[in-house]
Amino acid sequence: MNQYLKQSVTVLKGIGEETAESLAEMKIYTVEDLLEYFPYRYEDYRLRELSEVKHDEKITIEGKVHSEPSLTYYGRKKSKLMIRMFVGQYLIKVVFFNQPYLKSKIVMNETITVTGKWDAHRQTITANEMQVGQNTKTTDFEPVYSLKGKITTKGMRKFISIAFQQFGQYIEESLPLTLVKKYRLVDRNSALKAMHFPVNQEDVKQARRRLVYEEFLLFQLKMQALRKFEREHSPGIEQNYLETKVEKFIQSLPFPLTNAQSRVVSEILNDLKSPLRMNRLLQGDVGSGKTVVAAIGLYASVTAGYQGALMVPTEILAEQHAESLKGLLEPFGLRCELLTSSVKGKRRREILQQVSEGTVDILIGTHALIQDEVTFKKLGFVITDEQHRFGVEQRRVLREKGENPDVLFMTATPIPRTLAITVFGEMDVSVIDEMPAGRKAIETYWAKPEMLGRVLSFVEKELVKGHQAYVICPLIEESDKLDVQNAIDVHTTLTHHFQNRFKVGLMHGRLSSDEKDTVMKAFSTNEVQVLVSTTVVEVGVNVPNATMMVIYDAERFGLSQLHQLRGRVGRGSDQSYCILLADPKSEVGQERMRIMAETNDGFVLSEKDLELRGPGDFFGKKQSGVPEFKLADMVHDYRTLETARNDASLMIQSKTFWTRKEYQYLRNQLENTGVLEGEKLD
Ligand code: ADP
Ligand code: MG
Repeated sequence: MNQYLKQSVTVLKGIGEETAESLAEMKIYTVEDLLEYFPYRYEDYRLRELSEVKHDEKITIEGKVHSEPSLTYYGRKKSKLMIRMFVGQYLIKVVFFNQPYLKSKIVMNETITVTGKWDAHRQTITANEMQVGQNTKTTDFEPVYSLKGKITTKGMRKFISIAFQQFGQYIEESLPLTLVKKYRLVDRNSALKAMHFPVNQEDVKQARRRLVYEEFLLFQLKMQALRKFEREHSPGIEQNYLETKVEKFIQSLPFPLTNAQSRVVSEILNDLKSPLRMNRLLQGDVGSGKTVVAAIGLYASVTAGYQGALMVPTEILAEQHAESLKGLLEPFGLRCELLTSSVKGKRRREILQQVSEGTVDILIGTHALIQDEVTFKKLGFVITDEQHRFGVEQRRVLREKGENPDVLFMTATPIPRTLAITVFGEMDVSVIDEMPAGRKAIETYWAKPEMLGRVLSFVEKELVKGHQAYVICPLIEESDKLDVQNAIDVHTTLTHHFQNRFKVGLMHGRLSSDEKDTVMKAFSTNEVQVLVSTTVVEVGVNVPNATMMVIYDAERFGLSQLHQLRGRVGRGSDQSYCILLADPKSEVGQERMRIMAETNDGFVLSEKDLELRGPGDFFGKKQSGVPEFKLADMVHDYRTLETARNDASLMIQSKTFWTRKEYQYLRNQLENTGVLEGEKLD
């Protein structure tokens, strides 16, 4: 936007320092911010027939007062005012809370108009507004803003109206005419106006449609410009791996690769060979066989004369990966070493030494890998597992380690497409969407907590067959301490229950890594048959003999996390089971349990999860890099998102985007974000 709109809100008549301060609390600093501060909903004042109105819906309705108002006080300063009212032939009740002054305005047999929420069961409107006489509102819709400080709804509407009067003429069209025409969008000025002063619902709809597209388009332009510039400004290594050796390695695996694995392997090998730097996300459901794919890539890089690194979020996972990579790669003469914070003293110094000399080919570990003390002789390929746990910033730090190594991010959390292109929009994406043949689907059941007895006998049946079981304990978001206590309690109960028959182990985040190690070893060697644990076993853990997973308080987990947990079983050739102990009160909670029981497809679950929980919660943690949009909603507006993405991609690739005047506005937006400042990217 232009300079006029970038001025402080204090240039508006009637906005002084004090008001400006309140507006600042709402992150409104400039005229432009004010114009783009959209209502979060609209009050609907259309008159409707009672028969059209659903339970709990908001209505505005005229009627004739049919009883004297009765006013009762309760508590301190709380009151309830009740009348009966005739609406057509219906007699309904109208209740006003804490507006005792209305009593004097209500007169028997007079017409009044009330606005409120319709309770169809009680035939009652809980009203928040009343007007004597017929409805005289001139607009059907009034915007409702989320407000802070001393700002009132009325005030807000006035400020925005003044902003339009003083500066409306400076609102420019942001989109090229071709796009406005192509999608039949309303122009920017009208769209902004309609958001704040709509005449009817259709106005809002059209305004929103346009602004959502614009918001997504700008976002995607930034992402794709970033991607283009990262590519062009960060040359990678042309890794000339030895094709015959890599081929031989693949042939030597105990199984043929699935089609999906083969496809992804060739995408990765192409990236390695290319002189551009690899920046790729690999998604594959739990058990889809990502480790082998990683091993092939790492092996290829080593045959090209480079070292590789594999970074994972937990020590347990690091150990397991180290073990499987050693198993796969050492027979081919590669040296793989593990580096975590528990590798100390002389051993640590040795490993660091050998990594810097280049005698270690593959280094596997936790965050420790990207600390300064670790120097590689010739780092060519970095792989991270469960990358969504690392933030955008860490992704960048990692890419900057070594001399432009190729980077592959792996995740077992299938990421819904919309999130993948927003959160990871600057990357190339590979997907393993096929399971190795012969896997048995895990059977999942939802049981109420009072069925615990029966659940435990089911567990016992599996144990008697010589199998093992995981029992995952309640997740209490606020407190790690409470999580641990829960696990301890369940452990005590189960130890007692399986007394003299089976051994029950306990695993939680407060154990030292030595203790964790001991517990995990005891479970993987079947010295312990039941493992009670908090969610620390979530990722990577591999005990094929475990066929039973019981999850307490399953309603507290997101679908994706439940799916991850469930993925701990079903790793061997035997039928596995997952039991969700849950008593969700909400519709959504129950729906989640049903979906879990119905499908084993991680992608289906992730889409559902996104729908039910929203993008912010999807990754379970804040600062996950999920962008915040003013108006757009990634879930509901995903079609627009895809359209915008395609358009952005075409624009960024075309020459005209960088030269033509009609793209000026969009180009300016990119400049303001620093995306186009090449220095920042190097
Ligand atoms: P992920 O890391 O994707 O969860 P893994 O790489 O641990 O999955 O693979 C899970 C199991 O499947 C491992 O035991 C692995 O050896 C096996 N596996 C991988 N690829 C195949 C394949 N193409 N055919 C059969 N088994 C496979
Ligand atoms: Mg390369």
